[in-house]
Amino acid sequence: MSTLTERVTATLRDIPDFPATGVVFKDITPVLADGQLFADVLGDMAQRWRGQVDVVTGIEARGFVFGAALALELGTGFVPIRKAGKLPGPTVALSYDLEYGSATIEVHDDSFHPGQRVLVVDDVLATGGTAEAACRLVEQLGATVVAFETLVELAFLHGRDRLTGRDVRTLVVVD
Ligand code: AMP
Repeated sequence: MSTLTERVTATLRDIPDFPATGVVFKDITPVLADGQLFADVLGDMAQRWRGQVDVVTGIEARGFVFGAALALELGTGFVPIRKAGKLPGPTVALSYDLEYGSATIEVHDDSFHPGQRVLVVDDVLATGGTAEAACRLVEQLGATVVAFETLVELAFLHGRDRLTGRDVRTLVVVD
């Protein structure tokens, strides 16, 4: 009987040279397409946080898929953190460095409140820049980040170093 980690590892698809030469993209869509596996992943994530978070936030775009499903499992609301220029209302934004260039993410400025316990969700932890920026946005609005939860961690990119002191949970670690 294989473990959940082994099942996800076997189902993930590597796409070489996407979106740029030298990058091996971890395609999580086969995990979503497998109804039993997707449900089991959500069940695993949910049992860790049941009763411990007030709201789930997910990072565009694949963080929406896991984050929204997890919010339903946990009985909480869901807040989308989006790339710049997509949200209609007043926002707070944060820019951060990528391997090449920079990126900006933002969230509606009334999304979080002081005292709220927030779970931040994405599909892949790579260099950690996106996750770190998302956590800071939550904290900028006065709420508390309970943890960062992700399906896959690319450990060789040392994303955890940018999340020192935070609770980081991953199902699959790629060395
Ligand atoms: P990061 O470098 O940790 O800021 O990752 C940036 C975003 O791009 C995250 O939301 C990841 O989902 C995605 N990402 C980065 N590298 C990969 C990769 N090799 N495979 C799949 N997604 C990736």
